[in-house]
Amino acid sequence: MSQPKYQSPKGVHDILPDDHLYFSFVKKVVRHHCRRAGFRRISTPIFENIELFNRSIGDTSDIVEKEMFVFESKSGKKFALKPEGTAGVVRAYLEHGMQQLPKPVELYYIEPHFRYNRPQKGRYRQFHQFGIELIGESDPAIDAQIIYIAHRINQDLGIADRLTLQLNTIGSQEDRKQYKEDLINYYTGKERSLCEDCKRRLHDNPMRLLDCKKEDCQILASMAPKLETVLSAESKEHFDLVKEYLDELGVSYELNPMLVRGLDYYTHTVFEFWSKHEGAQNATGGGGRYDGLIEEMGGQATPAIGFAAGMERTIEYMKEAGIRPPNKDKVAVFVAQLGLVAKRKALPLINELRDRGINTVGAVGKSSMKAQMSLADRLDARYSLILGEVEVREGTIILRDMERGSQETIPIEGIVDKMTELLGGKALSDKRLWEE
Ligand code: AMP
Repeated sequence: MSQPKYQSPKGVHDILPDDHLYFSFVKKVVRHHCRRAGFRRISTPIFENIELFNRSIGDTSDIVEKEMFVFESKSGKKFALKPEGTAGVVRAYLEHGMQQLPKPVELYYIEPHFRYNRPQKGRYRQFHQFGIELIGESDPAIDAQIIYIAHRINQDLGIADRLTLQLNTIGSQEDRKQYKEDLINYYTGKERSLCEDCKRRLHDNPMRLLDCKKEDCQILASMAPKLETVLSAESKEHFDLVKEYLDELGVSYELNPMLVRGLDYYTHTVFEFWSKHEGAQNATGGGGRYDGLIEEMGGQATPAIGFAAGMERTIEYMKEAGIRPPNKDKVAVFVAQLGLVAKRKALPLINELRDRGINTVGAVGKSSMKAQMSLADRLDARYSLILGEVEVREGTIILRDMERGSQETIPIEGIVDKMTELLGGKALSDKRLWEE
């Protein structure tokens, strides 16, 4: 087959109807758990002023250093496509006076994000994340609750047992000042064994050296001083309580002192969900506390915590686990017609069936009956209703059971009720379907 003339750019994908079955299912589960826990949905723009990300995510993060899609307006102002969700949500929180709302403010999002990285399995240039942010509460019980919601979502998507929860604390900003000095001292004199990224980051952001994936850097990192040794009593207590609450909630975790997360804004609890088979590679999601970010962005000091997961990776794991989401697109009734009078009768019938909440496809073109029935087969319709001129004259319709391959001629009167009954008896108006 020859290549089509136009193809999607490298690293970005179409979401085809079969994929949307998964996306819709993931969204539904996410919405369900967020609503149950009092979270309300927010959407922020696809692009923001670039300074927002530089400031919040941090100049030395991978995202800001290498992965942002940056563009300039005609007047020379720089923008970036959003690479992650928290910065935009916090900007919106401050911009719209949400500080005045009763605390905690609980928000969630389901949005596309963009990172300019080398496309490979599980790593794309446009991907989708769902995320939750809880602003205005510092209690460690909240950390455990946020992790629990993420875990419950994974459970309901059928992938929880393929993942491990990696947990760490990176302490307060005060703890880290001391720790960063300790790390710089430890690495000084060992620079030659470090990769280029780590060499560059050593003085600006030495903690990032701990989660470098290069082998030599990992060996050095494993012998580096541990943050634990400089953790203040308060930070330690916070983390001990998070662990205790997680135990209480029955969520198992692996303590991972190397987990620092890539972004500057984290404090205290950080966590990621890793694949049992692939480890850190292709984590499905992660998050942590960011108690300093809101003040950093010009608001009053306000504690907060968040979590985000990648939908594409989540869906890949669902597929690996053999999870098949319900197919709500399935065609229940196919209406076939032959001749002008039959078409006139078929048109309102199609709409009546749809108004009852029955997925209905009608062949209203000029195809032969054979072609229409072959289409009904290809669409995998559960039933077909067939109208010809004879049926119209006699006030009947042919009902074909596509699964059994049997058919009968029955009165057209009451056919919508009959189909509703055959398909499970749920007679819902569209309005009620939307409200469900
Ligand atoms: P992060 O905050 O960078 O840990 O991202 C959270 C989650 O988003 C990751 O665990 C992935 O599931 C997903 N994610 C991040 N970057 C990408 C990408 N380039 N392509 C696909 N998914 C991604």
